[in-house]
Amino acid sequence: MPPSPLPVANPTASFWRSSPHPLDDYRSTSDVPSKVDIAIIGAGYAGVSTVHHILDICKCRGTAPPNIVILEARQACSGATGRNGGHLKPDPANRPSSLAVTYGVGIASECAAFEAQNLSAVKKTIEDESIDCEFVLTRAVDALMSDAICNKMKSGFDMLRKLGVSGIEDVHFAKGVDAERLSGVKGAKGCLSYSAGHLFPYKLILHLLSKAIDSGVNVQTHTPVTEVTKSPDAEGYFTLTTPRGLIRAKDIVYATNGYTSSLLSEFADKIVPVRGVCCHIKPTKNPAPFLPNSYMIRWSDTKYEYLIPRLDGSIIVGGARSEYYHELESWYNNVNDDLLIESAKHYFDGYMQRVFHGWEDSGAYTSQLWTGSE
Ligand SMILES: Cc1cc2nc3c(=O)[nH]c(=O)nc-3n(C[C@H](O)[C@H](O)[C@H](O)COP(=O)(O)OP(=O)(O)OC[C@H]3O[C@@H](n4cnc5c(N)ncnc54)[C@H](O)[C@@H]3O)c2cc1C
Repeated sequence: MPPSPLPVANPTASFWRSSPHPLDDYRSTSDVPSKVDIAIIGAGYAGVSTVHHILDICKCRGTAPPNIVILEARQACSGATGRNGGHLKPDPANRPSSLAVTYGVGIASECAAFEAQNLSAVKKTIEDESIDCEFVLTRAVDALMSDAICNKMKSGFDMLRKLGVSGIEDVHFAKGVDAERLSGVKGAKGCLSYSAGHLFPYKLILHLLSKAIDSGVNVQTHTPVTEVTKSPDAEGYFTLTTPRGLIRAKDIVYATNGYTSSLLSEFADKIVPVRGVCCHIKPTKNPAPFLPNSYMIRWSDTKYEYLIPRLDGSIIVGGARSEYYHELESWYNNVNDDLLIESAKHYFDGYMQRVFHGWEDSGAYTSQLWTGSE
């Protein structure tokens, strides 16, 4: 596998990035700093939350924060974090059941607990910092659309209960008519529900970025890192190359998601970028039918969509994999988030009318469609 290319220019416009924040193209200084303690490469969930935690730890310890620079190839939060489905969705059933079979109950419990704790930790940060990012704590409903997927999920659920895997006590399983009523999804054979959240990812990250800047962090957008020296120099500094000059840094955080192998070629076979599709759906009738949960519509192991309702009555849906999964080059090792995936272009037209009870006359239409690479 060749190393990943760098992020491409002019990515498709995502709903979350419709009204760019004043810091979207921000540069703290006209030149890049020549020397820092820590260079963070990438301004998405991983990069910006790492900075948030470094600053938080220093504050708790009463120590001065290190000199930090955040280097972002494009606009702030323009990677997967600014292009995703906005779902904060721990998986307490599906993944843990296969992990329990392959690696045992300990690993399954550890992973399920980690994902559940992540939801609580994000909620706590948003509340502690009073971040306006449209966070909602909700129940995720996985609608199981065939007998095969329903039976598979039910036997996984039963096994996890028997083994006492962490988090399974939060999961409710329903079958048949109850499942269709509970989920509101036409023809659902079964459903699982469990705690989850949804939010406006761009608002969360730009809030944390703004706070980091106020604490003295240097942010440089539109500054791709093209090379990093393999080992530190005699003073313990690595050198990062950017089109705007060199930066020496003692520590480097690669928060570069699917693009990591563009700088660390040894990851070329381990971290392969994959492309996905999301859309924004708007009902034209007022009031829109209310959806009380967030959703995953599971048609099979490989065919599913994930969906969050927004408080303004519109919907964000991601998925459509069945339309392009067989065309490997359209998504695998593909960073072209500047282009839509041709065969998935019309998948979401009429989606809410097809899938949900009560949406038949909603006049819902796909108002925006975009891709993301991770
Ligand atoms: C279409 C889609 C839908 C998704 N839906 C969901 C969802 O609903 N819920 C969920 O939890 N997850 C979802 N995900 C996954 C989630 O978005 C990612 O796991 C998460 O955003 C990763 O965050 P990150 O900070 O690691 O990466 P990113 O947000 O991609 O940030 C990496 C950043 O690094 C920058 N970068 C890369 N290389 C360089 C370089 N050499 N120099 C400078 N900058 C560089 C990039 O420009 C980018 O901004 C989805 C992903 C996609 C693509």
